[in-house]
Amino acid sequence: MQLIDNLTVVTMDQQRRILADAAIVIDQDRIVAVESAGELREQYPDAERIDAAGMVAIPGLIDTHAHADQSLLRGLGDQMHWIPFIDDIIVPYLAERDPADGVLANALSIMEMIRSGTTCFVSPNVDPRDDYESLTDTIGQLGIRAILGRFTMPQEGPDSSETAISVVSSAAEVMQRWDGTQGGLVTMWYGLDVPRRSGDTDHPEFYKAVADEARASGHGIVYHFCSEIEDSDYIDDHYGIRPAEWSRDNHALGPNVLLINGCWVTPLEIKILADTGTHLAHSPVANMKMATGILPVTEVLEGGVNVSLGTDGALNNNTFDMFAEMKTACLLQNATQKNAAALTAQTALEMATINGARAIGREDDLGSLVAGKLADIVLIDVRRPNTYPVHDVLSNLVFATNSTNVHSVFIGGRRVLENGRVVGMDESALLARAQERAEIVRSKLGFVTSNTWQTK
Ligand SMILES: [Zn+2]
Repeated sequence: MQLIDNLTVVTMDQQRRILADAAIVIDQDRIVAVESAGELREQYPDAERIDAAGMVAIPGLIDTHAHADQSLLRGLGDQMHWIPFIDDIIVPYLAERDPADGVLANALSIMEMIRSGTTCFVSPNVDPRDDYESLTDTIGQLGIRAILGRFTMPQEGPDSSETAISVVSSAAEVMQRWDGTQGGLVTMWYGLDVPRRSGDTDHPEFYKAVADEARASGHGIVYHFCSEIEDSDYIDDHYGIRPAEWSRDNHALGPNVLLINGCWVTPLEIKILADTGTHLAHSPVANMKMATGILPVTEVLEGGVNVSLGTDGALNNNTFDMFAEMKTACLLQNATQKNAAALTAQTALEMATINGARAIGREDDLGSLVAGKLADIVLIDVRRPNTYPVHDVLSNLVFATNSTNVHSVFIGGRRVLENGRVVGMDESALLARAQERAEIVRSKLGFVTSNTWQTK
């Protein structure tokens, strides 16, 4: 047993209690108590005591949109619209990538996530050609929770129920091989694509087969949705309906479905998402950087849709920092609604924790610090110039904290970050390897940066 002592705990429980002079007791991978420090010290005298004086504990942050395999390309996707971004960067990178580089990119991303308080992430569109053995080993070694949305595409040729079922069954076999591995840290989902532009395949039987299989096996589904004005207009023009109607008609909505972006949703679509229990991951930094659009977050939340947060990643964010994401989510809504209280720190923290847990179907286990849940805990050292003094801990967490305040991270009771250092990882060696391989990849694919100044 471990007793983390002398804390302020932002529980994110149903009453949203904030406990001063509190402690958290962990037994193996679960939280057994979150109460006043004095009481718990008496009740658990034999627990290993971790003094966390001056720290604030929050639930592990859940990044519901994180392309963890792209970090070797950080800095190469600036100033790009989504079509050249996909066609000129993502597609050639995936086609040419050495699977080991995909694993290395994930390791780099995960190291950054842990250092910035993220304990669980959803990686959409994980390439089927990746080395799943090494990838899942890396996830286990670093100790983070990962939801891998294995990219699954419709079959070539005509749409038929038999072919679709056969394609989805073979994907399901691979998914079952890796689902739940690394002591339950790895979860496999379907990463889909829906029609976004002329020439994209739209096989209704395929989407139905995925939906049936996912429902039967308990897998989730994740895909990019209504992100750009062009893809939203494409569905409108080509099918005469809105993207959410297309997704609903093609069995691609539901409580096990997480949509990404949704910048151009209409009131009709908000209602469809709410009625079907579909979740939406908001990525304000990437949306702003790529000039994608602006999700009307408060309208979507008021419409009854669960909205979580995601960074998108190293190419179009260009970090995996969920603290920056929370702050930016507030700033974007405030600026566009001309209302300084449009999106509050409270709501942003909910989106990054409990809403994220709900979005991945893990609300019973994750997203708040309460007895019985998994011990995914982040200790924030607020005794720093950027977070002092503390009048309002929530304000400091959302508007002032950054990754340098993250002192320790526990995932399932295991300490994966201690005093700002990732446990069990030679960070310098990993950074050196990432730089070396990133330069090889850049030169092989002929990628250039957008910098026009000379480097001498
Ligand atoms: Zn994405």
